[in-house]
Amino acid sequence: MFVDSHLHLDFDEFAHDRSAVMARAAAIGIETYLTIGIKVRDFDRVRAVAEMHDNVYCTVGTLPHFSDEEKDVSTEEIVALTHHSKVVGIGEAGLDRVYGTADWTNQIAVFAAHLAAAQETQLPLVIHSVREDETMAAMLQEATAVRPFPFVVHAFSGGPLLMETALELGGYFGFGGLLTYEGNDHIRQAASSLPRDRILLETDSPSMSPAPFETDRNEPANLSKIAELLAKLRGDKVEDIAAYTTDNFYRLFAKVARPPIAS
Ligand SMILES: [Zn+2]
Repeated sequence: MFVDSHLHLDFDEFAHDRSAVMARAAAIGIETYLTIGIKVRDFDRVRAVAEMHDNVYCTVGTLPHFSDEEKDVSTEEIVALTHHSKVVGIGEAGLDRVYGTADWTNQIAVFAAHLAAAQETQLPLVIHSVREDETMAAMLQEATAVRPFPFVVHAFSGGPLLMETALELGGYFGFGGLLTYEGNDHIRQAASSLPRDRILLETDSPSMSPAPFETDRNEPANLSKIAELLAKLRGDKVEDIAAYTTDNFYRLFAKVARPPIAS
């Protein structure tokens, strides 16, 4: 069985056919979904999808792109929203000046509020980090020195500094469509060399559709393509990839109820 550890099921792209999308995903063996928040103040819609389906869980947070409009988001506000059985993590939160245009000071402040929420709740932080390895590594080091917390660097695209720092701090690494794109040899290299107990699979649907269909709407059924590529890169069987990435997910997101393993 597989888990899609990072996607956005509440997005409008899925409004008209979410059940068909989930049926196709079930057919390739996806048993659990983690649908990820991108705005704390628009969290109702994320939680609503999680409440609708037994096997959908969610996280609450502000994507760095929205750090201007949510610049005053407080740790208390985030923590309060985690007091719900379906809310199993914080994020996605982080730093991004490549795809986001939000003010840098606001990005730092908003990310700091999320780091504090992860420290306080001990729920895993889902990190979005694009080409800010040095600042990200430093902020993670500083925050975990005060109080450690679990985390995953989603859609990992960092270099050796961020990889080594996150590894050392007990972090996990999410891999999805980026793994399939041209020019991403450094990501494939990271995915092939990391210890197997730190790797998660994700699609980031509806974005990040695997090559050569980059511009299509992505959907969780495409997770099998990521698993197949990862298997090739690591010299593992697809069944092994499924088994260890699924184990990793439930170990990290310990608040998720793991379905009984079918015998
Ligand atoms: Zn995402």
